[in-house]
Amino acid sequence: MLLEVHDLHVEFRTRDGVARAVNGVGLGVDAGETLAVLGESGSGKSVTAQAVMGILDTPPGRITAGRILFRGRDLLTLREEERRRVRGAGMAMIFQDALSALNPVLRVGDQLGEMFVVHRGLSRKEARARAVELMDRVRIPAARERAGDYPHQFSGGMRQRIMIAMAIALEPALVIADEPTTALDVTVQAQIMDLLAELRREYRMGLILITHDLGVVADVADRIAVMYAGRIVESAPVHDLYKAPAHPYTRGLLDSIPRLDRKGRELHAISGMPPSLLAVPPGCAFHPRCPMARDVCRTDVPPLHAVDEDRGSACHFWRECLHG
Ligand code: SF4
Repeated sequence: MLLEVHDLHVEFRTRDGVARAVNGVGLGVDAGETLAVLGESGSGKSVTAQAVMGILDTPPGRITAGRILFRGRDLLTLREEERRRVRGAGMAMIFQDALSALNPVLRVGDQLGEMFVVHRGLSRKEARARAVELMDRVRIPAARERAGDYPHQFSGGMRQRIMIAMAIALEPALVIADEPTTALDVTVQAQIMDLLAELRREYRMGLILITHDLGVVADVADRIAVMYAGRIVESAPVHDLYKAPAHPYTRGLLDSIPRLDRKGRELHAISGMPPSLLAVPPGCAFHPRCPMARDVCRTDVPPLHAVDEDRGSACHFWRECLHG
């Protein structure tokens, strides 16, 4: 396994108390595999990604327990310098907001080239040539000419392609994309997703896609981990999860998106709001919003039950949900 996360706990100390943002998360990604981590805002998905990348804001954030194994090495035991090396060549991240992630006063060709100068020891001229190749690879038209432009001269979709080019420049084994298409229109979203899927195949990299949009990942993910209030509540191969969810929250998410295989069915939004991480409800954190909740749900935290060998659900009544 390329990346294994075991029992990860992350908390944030705030003036109002301790927010338990990640509460015992476990997940894994293999080379060439795409894992989608899905959840509403505040579910802990981005914090999990930041912990894996080693870019968590500490303080106020703090990893209080867990292991993050990358190619078998526990990243949490590495010194910052070693960690930086892993971050440079082993794993890379694509951020949601390309405009703020790119340097506004540097030409994009120079920003891309800098990676080859710093990490590969290339001359400026060689680095510029590699930058143009990369821009071409992520299908930026007229790459040679556009390498001299600044980030604000590109459209949102093109800027996201530049972010992707930066992420794959050093051919990392793992790429984490945090809501990479949220700010883009639907057509450009699909193009960016196709590009990521193509690059993942070509470079055989592991890909973690953080998203709040189940519709976006359906065609590109192999597996989905659904997060709610800092925990993984369902984890399953994508087709199994779409066919028959084993958690009422996943069911709610599926019922709220338009699907070609369910034409004519009404869409239903999940009632209520996600909980504050400063006051997570006792028992199953989803119980105030769950149409299947019973007394036990208000007192007992459901463990992640094995639905089958590669599928889990943190619901006391997963069987009913699966067959309902
Ligand atoms: Fe709903 Fe209970 Fe299952 Fe939680 S444990 S998802 S409240 S049925």
